[in-house]
Amino acid sequence: MESCPFCRVAEGKAQARVVFDGDEVLAFHDIAPRAPVHVLVIPRRHIVSLAHTSQGDRDLLGTLLAAAAEAARQTGIADSGYRVVANSGAEGGQTVAHLHLHVLGGRPMGWPPG
Ligand code: 5GP
Ligand code: ZN
Repeated sequence: MESCPFCRVAEGKAQARVVFDGDEVLAFHDIAPRAPVHVLVIPRRHIVSLAHTSQGDRDLLGTLLAAAAEAARQTGIADSGYRVVANSGAEGGQTVAHLHLHVLGGRPMGWPPG
C-alpha cells in the first residue's frame, strides 16, 4: 500500500532503524520512542490490525511474537524485562493502520496502561 507508512518501511521506500529483518516480519525503532527501547514489529504484508486477522494468520502471528522476543534480545532488554503491546482500533489507541507490536523496555512499566 503506497499510502501506508509501515508498508513504505517494509518496501525500503521510507527509512527506519532496523533491528531485525525477517522474510515475513520486520522490526525497527519507533520514530517517537515512549521508553529507552521502543521497537515496532510488523508483518511485511499489509494487515490493518489484530482485528483483521483470522485463523489462517496463526503462523504469521506466532512469527510476529517470536520476532518481538528476538528484538528484545537484540536490544538488550530481554533480561531486565519488557512489555509487548498491540493497540487495535480507535479505542485501542491505534494510530497507524498496519498491524504492529510495540516492544517497550529499558525502564519499569506502569500498570494499568493509560
Ligand atoms: P499505534 O499508536 O498505532 O499503536 O503506534 C504507532 C507507532 O508508530 C507510534 O508509536 C509512532 O510513534 C510510530 N510511527 C508512526 N509513523 C512512523 C514512521 O514513519 N516510522 C517509525 N519508525 N515509527 C512511526
Ligand atoms: Zn501497510
